[in-house]
Amino acid sequence: MDLDVDTVRVARSRADCVLRPGETFLGGGTYLYSEPVPPGVTGLVDLTGLGWEPWSVDGAGLRVAGTCTLEELLAGPGGLGVPGPYRALGIVAPCVAALTLSAKVARTATVGGNLALGLPAGSMAGLFAALAARAVVWTPDGGAREVPVADLVTGAGVVALSRGEVLREVLVPAAVLRQRTAVRRASLTPTGRTAAMVTGRSGADGTWITLTGSVGRPLGRAVRDHAALDRWIDAIDLAVPTVPTVPTVPTVPTVPTALPAPAASGVPDGLAGGGGWYEDTHGSRAWRAAMTRRLAHEVLDDLGDPT
Ligand SMILES: Cc1cc2nc3c(=O)[nH]c(=O)nc-3n(C[C@H](O)[C@H](O)[C@H](O)COP(=O)(O)OP(=O)(O)OC[C@H]3O[C@@H](n4cnc5c(N)ncnc54)[C@H](O)[C@@H]3O)c2cc1C
Repeated sequence: MDLDVDTVRVARSRADCVLRPGETFLGGGTYLYSEPVPPGVTGLVDLTGLGWEPWSVDGAGLRVAGTCTLEELLAGPGGLGVPGPYRALGIVAPCVAALTLSAKVARTATVGGNLALGLPAGSMAGLFAALAARAVVWTPDGGAREVPVADLVTGAGVVALSRGEVLREVLVPAAVLRQRTAVRRASLTPTGRTAAMVTGRSGADGTWITLTGSVGRPLGRAVRDHAALDRWIDAIDLAVPTVPTVPTVPTVPTVPTALPAPAASGVPDGLAGGGGWYEDTHGSRAWRAAMTRRLAHEVLDDLGDPT
């Protein structure tokens, strides 16, 4: 743990969330306190002091606060995912389990922190992208904007959050909550970091498959049948990465230093800015590609191949 900062402010109101020079946001601190202080960071603004309700369900759907801990997510929405009006949430528990966190870390780590880090192994992106969730982002000028969670992580350790933007909550639409979902994951060792994860959802808008872990950023699309799934995965096999691979642990995760390059001509749809398979010590490209293909077919089987 390296706590070499000059100030820690506990945010109690939105006004407190305006960053001063050198400050960055603090969620549960499980990443920030486990790494050297990012270059230029001299102060922390603790978002957990805002006292947000961890999660709630209303007419619009399920809202999960940025400060909701993984333990709270598991105990709340994770417990709702039985057959019934919230059956889509059956993937919450396995997605939390896909993180290599001890119970002690899960008690503190937040959904917002996991999404803002944008690590390929960050299973909250795969979970909420599969649930067609939108992230509500507070902007420093006092406004707010929404972005699909599927578009929030734009590369390995790169997220579409500008300096001073707070991930307030993610909203899962009410209509999605009763849809069927499925998830599979793989890691090199039984307790290893997730290296391939496939989430799926089947609803009125078709069967959606989302790939994370094996790719630099979530990739998702509607898949009609197993043949279409194979064609999509073949296209990823052929795609040349357009963003250089970065280390698993980014240095300044919430301040994008390099936005992904636009899709090169000929890069298959859905791969713009992140084509090809991700590779690090947790798995080679070839292994991740093979595992992803297998897991994606299993997820499609789970959801019921309509053909
Ligand atoms: C033992 C261990 C195992 C881990 N395993 C995994 C793993 O398997 N997969 C994985 O992805 N990660 C893993 N991590 C990394 C990390 O701890 C988790 O991703 C965790 O979810 C981060 O949440 P946090 O609230 O602790 O974030 P913090 O450490 O508080 O913050 C992380 C980053 O997010 C920013 N941030 C936090 N909240 C917000 C917000 N609401 N709005 C905007 N920015 C915000 C912070 O400024 C910081 O840049 C692991 C960490 C540890 C210590």
